[in-house]
Order: sequence, then C-alpha cells, then structure tokens
Amino acid sequence: MTLRKILHYPNPKLRHTAKSVDNVDKEIQRLISDMFETMYEDNGIGLAATQIGIDLRIFVVDVHEKNKNPIAFINPVIIEQAGEQKYPEGCLSLPGIFAEIKRAENIKIEALNKEGKNFTLEANGILAVAIQHEFDHLDGKLFIDHLSSLKKQLIKRKLKKLRKQNL
Ligand code: ZN
Repeated sequence: MTLRKILHYPNPKLRHTAKSVDNVDKEIQRLISDMFETMYEDNGIGLAATQIGIDLRIFVVDVHEKNKNPIAFINPVIIEQAGEQKYPEGCLSLPGIFAEIKRAENIKIEALNKEGKNFTLEANGILAVAIQHEFDHLDGKLFIDHLSSLKKQLIKRKLKKLRKQNL
C-alpha cells in the first residue's frame, strides 16, 4: 500500500467530474487500499478518488474507528433521499475548515464493491452525511458549495489566512 497525496483547495483538479470505472481489476483494488490508508493516515472518515487526482468514480468511507466498517463505493448512484439533517462537516482537501451543511437524513445508494459486485446500502446519520459529501466530490463539488455566498466568502478569507500561515 502507498500513501497518496491529498489535493488541497483550490487545486483545479478537485473540480473535475470523475468517469465511471469500466472494470474492477487489481489496479482498482490497489487504488482502493491506498485510499483507505491515505484516509486513515489523515484521520478522515471519507476520501474520494478525485481528492488524490484520479478522475474515477470511487470513494471510501469509514465513519467509526479505524478499520471498523470500511466501505468502498465504485460507480455509486444515490437512488433515494429523504428527510433533512445538519452536521458540521470538514474535508481532507480543506484542512481547518468546518461548516454545518444541510443534507438528506436517509439515503439509499447502489454501487459496486471492491470485488466488482453490485450492492445496495441504506444509511442515515453521519454515514449518510459522509456518503453524500464524498459523492459530491465525484462531480467536482465541495461542501463549501452548499453554503450561502456570504459564508463562502468568510471561509475563503479564512483559507487564505491559513495558507499564509503555512508558507
Ligand atoms: Zn471532502
């Protein structure tokens, strides 16, 4: 397994729309293992392939302790959404930034697993939040895009400050 470099906002690659995976082969499985390792290393609960510069429709989540419930999603489709919840979200591509985002409370998602087999999952709470957040990444969407333009401006200012501190 190899740690991959996580791209940070405003890297333009984070805005790419990912393409479907044609064939779940060894290379894809290796990529997924790397994604889990990279996510755990940064204490994340989700990571999308677009965040490491790979434009494929793959993301991984594990919302509890490390390796407790790792789930990989390939070519995911959210087939049902219901209810509403607000949860303070963060993102490995926007370190230091947190904001409450409105998402569906319950979702149903269909995808291929690491073995290339179709599965359906019903999720709620933080797992549903993580899935919706990662799903957005595959279409080049970031969690701050859900905020009002005023809140987005404040966050952009904060990000600029954070970047200056890190120079
Ligand atoms: Zn993210």
